[in-house]
Amino acid sequence: MADHIMSTYNRLPIQFERGEGIWLWDSEDRQYLDALSGIAVCGLGHAHPAVTRAIAEQAGRLVHTSNLYGIALQEQLADKLSEVSGMDRVFFSNSGAEANEAAIKIARLYGHSRGIDNPAIIVTDRSFHGRTMATLTASGNRKVQAGFEPLLPGFVRVPYNDLDAIRTVAENSNEVVAVLVEPVQGEGGINIPDSGYLDGIRTICDDKQWLMMLDEIQSGMGRTGKWFAYQHSNTVPDVATLAKALGNGVPIGACLARGRAAEMMQPGTHGSTFGGNPLACRAAIAVLETLEQEELIEHAAALGERFQQGFRDALSGVAGVTEIRNLGLMIGIELDRPCGELVSQAIDQGVLINVTAERVVRLLPPLVTTSKQADIIIEHVSKLIREFLAG
Ligand SMILES: *Cc1c(COP(=O)(O)O)cnc(C)c1O
Repeated sequence: MADHIMSTYNRLPIQFERGEGIWLWDSEDRQYLDALSGIAVCGLGHAHPAVTRAIAEQAGRLVHTSNLYGIALQEQLADKLSEVSGMDRVFFSNSGAEANEAAIKIARLYGHSRGIDNPAIIVTDRSFHGRTMATLTASGNRKVQAGFEPLLPGFVRVPYNDLDAIRTVAENSNEVVAVLVEPVQGEGGINIPDSGYLDGIRTICDDKQWLMMLDEIQSGMGRTGKWFAYQHSNTVPDVATLAKALGNGVPIGACLARGRAAEMMQPGTHGSTFGGNPLACRAAIAVLETLEQEELIEHAAALGERFQQGFRDALSGVAGVTEIRNLGLMIGIELDRPCGELVSQAIDQGVLINVTAERVVRLLPPLVTTSKQADIIIEHVSKLIREFLAG
């Protein structure tokens, strides 16, 4: 019974008991293909032996001490993350929203260090950055804000994928100190900006001495076919946030920073009781090592092409399919009508998918998905969409 659970979620009427790779089994032992990865969390699939081993071993050795002391595994993970990202320093949190909170606090410290008393951050329409007060204020979605006013000051909103809008703010504001965007919008509907967007933001930020801050919480950790989505551009941000796939399900987030942004936090400015504890860091190290050893990021890129081709073959020209888009394994199929009911129809077929922004079928399959499994997902999902549209 869920009587004692707060009603925050509209839950689907199934519960899973175990998983292996891209498969999940429910309480009636029915099997499902997981094309969602717990919303981009289980990139390595379920119960990956390397992660399981790391967690089990670390749980038997040391789960938690405190950030009052040195934590070797945290240092090791920060080294590894810096190496693959090109960033200098890392703050560890327990979630994506908290990673973004750290980024927002860095931007404000940075603003004050430049003598700006009311520093503001540019954010975009249709963005999603989390559910804390600062991150829901930063999000471009009225649904996550409604009822929680007063929102926080210090944010300026512009349309996504619109450099001119940012330039206009640059000409008219003396208070902006940073831009915070997702390199691909996830919750907003798998919105992929034009190829010059991130480079353009970089140029404006360099010009104005603003921090370029990227929310890579959904797009990071290999999902788009690179370690981080910004690596598809020529740009390195000043701040990048991670969470979701970082621990493959063990809660951990990270705020990475470079140059001056990396020097803003000083003893006493920020902290977290759990953030970066030995258990979470050990799991994340296992995730990074596995992504490299199994060459899963290259695989994600190839698999992304396969999904794109497969869905184009199966769905382009079908009336009602507005657009098929992906960057690696962030895949969106936009329809001309709301299609939330596709989620339960897919469950009946034994496939887990998601619908976001009302009319975008979103797939975030694990990076360990095989080509054969990809073809099964393409076939099932295309058939469902065709039948739904033929309605
Ligand atoms: C999921 C998500 C968040 C929030 O992460 P939580 O761990 O739920 O706090 C923030 N930004 C993006 C882009 C996300 O996809």
